[in-house]
Amino acid sequence: MEIVQLHDKAFKKFISNNDIQLSIDKIVEKINVDYTNKRPIFIGVLNGSFLFSADLVKKFSSSCEVAFIQFSSYSGTKSTGNVKELMGLNVDIKNRDVIILEDIVDTGNTLEKLMITLKKHAPSSIKIATLLFKPKAYKKKIPIDYVAIEVGNEFLVGYGLDYDGIGRNLEHIYKIEE
Ligand code: 5GP
Ligand code: MG
Repeated sequence: MEIVQLHDKAFKKFISNNDIQLSIDKIVEKINVDYTNKRPIFIGVLNGSFLFSADLVKKFSSSCEVAFIQFSSYSGTKSTGNVKELMGLNVDIKNRDVIILEDIVDTGNTLEKLMITLKKHAPSSIKIATLLFKPKAYKKKIPIDYVAIEVGNEFLVGYGLDYDGIGRNLEHIYKIEE
């Protein structure tokens, strides 16, 4: 499918699932080296990162744990800056090596809030892996350790990302048609 219609907007195929998998392979290669014999806890940020989290952890070659947390900041196609924690952590991360799994880092507001929340639980380390990164929109200083794909500021859907609730199940990533 080259064009999909979601609500009032049309989206064009932008990154194929095959390219997504190749980009994930590249960052997992580094994560595999950095976390050999460390048993990290991957924390996926719901809802957007559910497919990325699933594909990434399947490619991780050592023992690990997987948990999820839910944050929300988007309304329609805009980041609101008002980040809410919708579902908290249900694992103990004290003295553990944590790897955050984000679908996309845009302004960085969500990431900042997440880092503050997780640091309160005293993990021994926190690194961040994101499928997509919008460097032109990023306003924070927090380094992002593993970036699979850099993109521009366009609004994207598919492979976990939604437009007002729909589109998450698309296997490829689509870009809004202006
Ligand atoms: P930030 O807090 O960095 O501005 O935004 C992060 C969150 O906004 C992401 O986790 C994601 O849920 C949402 N977001 C940012 N850019 C996009 C986009 O292009 N498409 C969709 N669907 N969500 C986005
Ligand atoms: Mg998100």
